[in-house]
Amino acid sequence: MKFLKLFGHLTIILILTVLTQVGGLVWLLALFISIKLKKKKRFTFPILYLVFNVLIIPPIAKPFGREQLPIFNDYLKPRNWVYPLFFRNYVTSDLKALLENSATNLKPLNISITYLDANFPFKDGFPLMPHLSHNDGKKIDISFMYLDKHGKSSTKKPSVSGYGAFVDSNNISSENCLNKGYWQYDFTKYMTFGIINNLKLDKPKTKLLIKELLDSNLTEKIFIEPYLKESLKLINETKIRFHGCQAVRHDDHIHLQIK
Ligand SMILES: [Zn+2]
Repeated sequence: MKFLKLFGHLTIILILTVLTQVGGLVWLLALFISIKLKKKKRFTFPILYLVFNVLIIPPIAKPFGREQLPIFNDYLKPRNWVYPLFFRNYVTSDLKALLENSATNLKPLNISITYLDANFPFKDGFPLMPHLSHNDGKKIDISFMYLDKHGKSSTKKPSVSGYGAFVDSNNISSENCLNKGYWQYDFTKYMTFGIINNLKLDKPKTKLLIKELLDSNLTEKIFIEPYLKESLKLINETKIRFHGCQAVRHDDHIHLQIK
């Protein structure tokens, strides 16, 4: 019985660490407090978790070179509350400054930056699963811009997670990767958590957004699917690269990484 309990705790700690980096440690701390108090406190973990999320981790992460992105800013915001709640919206100070500056420049064009997965608060090399490369604070995924069914600019995004709603699911370049045996290539189609809005890609605004990100000297590369690079007429932009078949397809979001 004791062994089962220990196994249960270890499993929870492992899952929380993979999903949130800090959550496993908070679970351990909550467990320790419950044992010390000799009482099962059902609310210890959620309260402790929130305190760590909002008050404790942001100031500790800063001297380690990672800052939390804004949550309630209309022009630079997460796709949903899961990203900040799971500690997945940390970047280097440079990347934060770049995004804030871009958001300010895009504001007059009525373009807002909606971010998805960024990085965890601590430790270079600790990957933010399932993105192996999001491990140094210098990478972030950003949503495209969309039009509603009447062809009007929308601030909405197609899927709940922000991932998996491909612009053209039958596009041949992704088919090629799948045909070559890279089964994971369109795996994000299972990670939408629901397609809730019927939207079309807003090509001009998405292009302006990408152009703005390209303008910064800090920008090292941007990943989008080759067919989008072509249809957005960004073919001469050397910083826009194809990520290769070993990654997942990028016609549902932009991947930005800085130097
Ligand atoms: Zn990415």
